[in-house]
Amino acid sequence: MMQPTISYLTDVYFGIGVTNIVPDLLAEIGIRRPLLVTDPGLRDLGIAERVGLNDAHVYSRVGTNPSEPQVLEARQEYRNGQCDGLVAVGGGSSIDLAKCAGILVGHAGTLESFTLRRGGTERITRRVPPIVAVPTTAGSGSEVGRAALVTLRCGDKVGIVSRFLTPAAAVCDPELTLTMPPPLSAGTGMDAISHCVETFCSTRCNPVADAIALDGLERGCRHIETVYGDGSNREARKEMMLCALQGGLAFQKSLGAAHSLSHPLGSLDGQLHHGTLNGLLLPVVLRFNADYCADKLEAMAQRLRLKKGSDLPEYFDALNRQLGMPESLAELGVTREELEPLAAKAAADHCSPTNPRPLDEAACRMLYLSVL
Ligand SMILES: [Zn+2]
Repeated sequence: MMQPTISYLTDVYFGIGVTNIVPDLLAEIGIRRPLLVTDPGLRDLGIAERVGLNDAHVYSRVGTNPSEPQVLEARQEYRNGQCDGLVAVGGGSSIDLAKCAGILVGHAGTLESFTLRRGGTERITRRVPPIVAVPTTAGSGSEVGRAALVTLRCGDKVGIVSRFLTPAAAVCDPELTLTMPPPLSAGTGMDAISHCVETFCSTRCNPVADAIALDGLERGCRHIETVYGDGSNREARKEMMLCALQGGLAFQKSLGAAHSLSHPLGSLDGQLHHGTLNGLLLPVVLRFNADYCADKLEAMAQRLRLKKGSDLPEYFDALNRQLGMPESLAELGVTREELEPLAAKAAADHCSPTNPRPLDEAACRMLYLSVL
């Protein structure tokens, strides 16, 4: 079965304090024994209590980038608890990990057999148990997305895409994002903004998504500096959460080179933050693509009240500086030797075919070196 071109299926509950509906929502969906999937930091902050799931079975070993061994552990926890649904509370990593665990709970086969590069979309069915996503960052958009990213045991960070991975419901409570420290607010916010930019420039046609992406872009750019400087600003946190949601709704058009390049970096040692990498890469990718999507750059520049499309890369350079983002991969500890094998992986990434300018291994190498 082909995937639908336009697909908006998730019930989104959005607003300050909306977290308290989680128990009722699970009852309505018919989840009686949820597996709560989260990370160690949130577990220690008492997140189970915060979402009203004190008695739930918990898997709380999600790392910065979800990995195959973690997915297998989560599946085991699901079985141990005889669970009948997944509640992911956390950033994109927790939500993606819950999606991957959901696949393995409902289907026989290795995780790799469900990846895009193995034609896995066809093998994923409605046997994925219901997933409720409760994001605690404003970035990945995975709460409304049909994709999951995971690092396989072979070391490759790969995408899995299926409409059956779209969460049954997303509970988006800006209150849960208030405690994000400034670097994480910046990194996750730049991820959301980069989704809006990259999907708007994608070669796929989906004008509904384009409209959402432009709106999300404007919203994100207007508020990201506020959440960085004053994390307790609820209004700005709400706007960033909307930006992330809009990015997630839009990127079913797929993404582009910034994501192609950041995915292999995310699998290096599992510690590099996905959104931070995208923020760092966005200006060079826009310069590289400029002649191939000039009209798109004009439209975005107009929304951001810049004079012309070619001002965009410099605008994002300046924004990155404002947000204290790293200025190079070296600053993040990446070496030239580590980069060498990544160019081929970036060119083969599932986001590369929709980048406006054709992206081969040489281009990926050049782009990596330009931010080293
Ligand atoms: Zn992203």
